[in-house]
This record gives sequence, C-alpha cells and structure tokens, in this order.
Amino acid sequence: MDAKQIVLASRPEGMPTTDNFAYQDVILPELQNNQVLLKSIYISVDPYMRGRMKDKKSYIAPFQVDQPITGSVIALVEESKSPDFPKGTKVLGMLPWATYSIAEAKTLHKIPPTNIPDSYYIGIVGMPGLTAYFGLIFICEPQPGETVVVSGAAGAVGLIVGQIAKIIGCRVVGITGSDEKAQLLTGKFGFNEAINYKTAPNLSEAISKACPQGIDCYFDNVGGDITDAVMQHLNMNARVAVCGQIALYNEMNLSTGLRLLPYILEKSVLMRGFLVSDYKEYFPKALNQLMDWVQAGKLKYTETILDGFDRLPEAFIGLFTGQNTGKMMVRV
Ligand code: NAP
Repeated sequence: MDAKQIVLASRPEGMPTTDNFAYQDVILPELQNNQVLLKSIYISVDPYMRGRMKDKKSYIAPFQVDQPITGSVIALVEESKSPDFPKGTKVLGMLPWATYSIAEAKTLHKIPPTNIPDSYYIGIVGMPGLTAYFGLIFICEPQPGETVVVSGAAGAVGLIVGQIAKIIGCRVVGITGSDEKAQLLTGKFGFNEAINYKTAPNLSEAISKACPQGIDCYFDNVGGDITDAVMQHLNMNARVAVCGQIALYNEMNLSTGLRLLPYILEKSVLMRGFLVSDYKEYFPKALNQLMDWVQAGKLKYTETILDGFDRLPEAFIGLFTGQNTGKMMVRV
C-alpha cells in the first residue's frame, strides 16, 4: 500500500514555516498479526506539537528530524489482522501525519457508535474537552456567581471552558483575537463579555470594565501580555489554571515580563499548571459528562476543518495566527 507522510524537515526557529515540513511517499509493509491498516480521516493539529519540534527534554519526547510528525488521528480500519478491530471500525490513535498507516490494534481506541460527529472525538469529547474540564473543575473550582476569565477563549479548549463555567452559573469573560470571534462568544456560546485583545486600547482597563466584581478564576491558555493584564484583577483567594502558554511557544528567549508573584502573594492566589494526562484516572467519568452535555445541547461546538492532507502544515501554523475558531484539524 502506498502512503503519503509529512515529516519534520527542520526544527523551527521562532514561528514555524512550511519549510519546516516535507512530504514523502512510502510503501507500507505487510500487516503482521494484531496490526491494522488505517486510512486517516481527520488529523488533529495542536499547539503542544510546537514544543515537540524543539530538541528539548519535556513531558513528551521531541519529534525527530526526517521522521513523521505524530498526533491524534481519527481513522478507518481498511484491513485487519486483529479480531477486535475488524475492517470498517473507526478508531482514534496517536498516529503519524499520513494518508495511510499501520498500527498495533492495542494502541487504538474505538469511536463509540453515538450521534456525536466523529471529529468531536479529537475536540469537545476528546483531549481538548478533557483539558477544559479538569483545569476548570479540578483547579479553578468555580462557584456559582463567581467571575471566570478564559484566554484563548474561541479555541478548542477555551470555548468549552467558558460554556462549562456558564453551566455552573458563573459570569464568564473571554479574551480572543478578533471581533468575529468575540461576537461568536457572546452570541452562540453565551459568554457574558468578550474582549478582542488585538484592538483593546488598554487591555487591563478592558478587563477591569468587563469584570466589575474582579476575577475569581482565570483559565490561562496563552500567557504573555494577556496574562500579565489579567493577573492585576484577581480577587482574594482566586484560582489560576495554567493550561497553555501559546503566546510564548515561538519565543527563542523568554522575557521576564511583568513580575506576577506580588499579585499571587497579596491575594492568596492558588496558581497551578497541569497536563491533561495528570487526570487519566478521571477520563471516563469526565468524557461521560462532556458527552451528556453535548447530547443535551448544553455544550455547543465549532470546528475549523481544512480539506486536504497537504494542508496539515498550514493548519498547524494557523494555530499561531488565530486562523481557527474551535478545534483546528484537517480532513484527509
Ligand atoms: P486553540 O485555542 O484552538 O488554538 C490556538 C489559539 O491561540 C489561536 O486560535 C489564537 O486565537 C490563540 N493564539 C495564538 N497565538 C497567540 C498569541 N501570541 N497570543 C494570544 N493568543 C494566541 O488551541 P487549543 O488546542 O485550544 O489549546 C489552547 C492552549 O491550551 C494552548 O496553549 C495549548 O498548548 C494548551 N493545552 C494544554 C493542555 C494541557 O494538558 N495542559 C492540553 C491541550 C491544550 P486568537 O485568535 O484568540 O488569538
């Protein structure tokens, strides 16, 4: 079987470019026992992959130059030597950026037969949904009536954070990068307020105005200047979940920025970083809750789907310029 793959051609310095990726044609080997041949349907692009492009030890191994990029993929079993995964089974796996691939069946998860769209299993009922759930509920612990601020609010994780906070009964303020996204947040997604950080003349003032009672919970997806501005408005005993720092992922040298520790000290703030994988034992329970909310229409979602395998580098780079609303992915 012929397949097309995308490899990391070179490690990006600063903002990634399409030159950091290369396409290659390969012939896949014969299937062995307990293996399946997979046809990729949806391939996820995620900000954390930028960290794997650095030659740096982290919580997950770096990608190797000239080797395929890997990530979450929804795929169809085309041929099978596994009794548990017959031809026609839809699966989710950590798989290469490839049109077709071979995988050990035991590494795959079946997509359950529900009325939830397949693509949602890499979004709202997948890793981003779980991330939103654990960061908000386990770290921020929002209470009804409290004010929750989320940055990266119109992205895969942010949209879910804001809506769960609304379900809990909070006042929700989203920070995002365009007027269209801000309108979507306060319209379809029911946020109380949304701030366009690219056009607000003074971000700190805009946050203060949108949060007249101060901020009780901050779900941080971006870091950098936005977080510097939010931290100045935290209430006593506020909770901050440090989920992502996308504003800094392309920095070659981190600047010190505003020093935040006085805000944490003076307001007895709890600030905690986390990885979704910290909460593995709670995945089934959280997924059931997310699915219930989706099926009950309490959680809405949107996706940015680029068509065509070759557009994976463009989709990935687009995460860093805000090209997506909701989950970004490629339909192969
Ligand atoms: P996403 O929000 O769907 O996509 C990234 C968004 O970030 C873009 O659409 C853009 O939106 C915004 N952005 C890009 N560069 C920015 C900058 N310099 N300053 C401010 N905003 C910027 O991505 P996601 O998958 O939901 O991930 C969100 C964050 O959570 C990322 O930082 C990611 O690394 C992190 N994350 C962490 C975990 C974990 O286990 N801790 C798991 C999943 C994700 P705008 O148009 O609003 O600028």
